[in-house]
Amino acid sequence: MNSNKAQILIIEDETTIQTFISTILSSSGYRVLSVSDASEALAILSTHVPDAILLDLGLPDMDGMDLLRKIREKLTTPVIIISARSFEKDKVEALDNGADDYITKPFGSAELLARIRTALRHSNRIMTKDTGSMNILKNGDLTIDFENRQILVSGKEIHLTQIEYKLLCLLAKYIGKVLTYDFIISNIWNISSDKNSQQLLRVNMANIRRKIEENPGKPKYVLTEVGVGYRLADIEQ
Ligand code: CA
Repeated sequence: MNSNKAQILIIEDETTIQTFISTILSSSGYRVLSVSDASEALAILSTHVPDAILLDLGLPDMDGMDLLRKIREKLTTPVIIISARSFEKDKVEALDNGADDYITKPFGSAELLARIRTALRHSNRIMTKDTGSMNILKNGDLTIDFENRQILVSGKEIHLTQIEYKLLCLLAKYIGKVLTYDFIISNIWNISSDKNSQQLLRVNMANIRRKIEENPGKPKYVLTEVGVGYRLADIEQ
């Protein structure tokens, strides 16, 4: 894998955090670009296309959420939000505005590097899918054969209902990325998210876990992001 040569843009105004992140990434072999505000970020993005972007939501010259929208107008580069705010509302808003993931301050180097690897793999897989070659997803012991509509866990076929299958395929399509309740519900049932539809979603997710997880109480594949949504874990091989 050549992701270690990937170029990462850090948009963060707090010098200590910017230096912390930059040091971790450089020593792991990434090429790093650092800026401290939104206008510098936009200037650099007009000439460079990084492989991933780390974006702090609290910037001095622009709300990070507005910058995220501007980035998404022209780039599909994975964006990981760095936020001191642990409010779920912000996470949901950022994800709905096109962020791929979020990391809440304070965080450690292992967590940061894992998020970056996932984001980079995710964009690689999306590219593969665009060329029409993603007929099978192998993720740990879970295999989804989209062409034959078949789910295997450790080689054993699993039977899902139509809704369960659609849900798992949606998570698989965005593997590694957190999908919000709104996003999932509108995609699967074409209705808006409310108490009832969220309950319906929970029941279906519980059924999927019962069928594919070794220990449904401690899921390895279908992960809950409390108050935000679900993600299919991108298992590192
Ligand atoms: Ca800040």
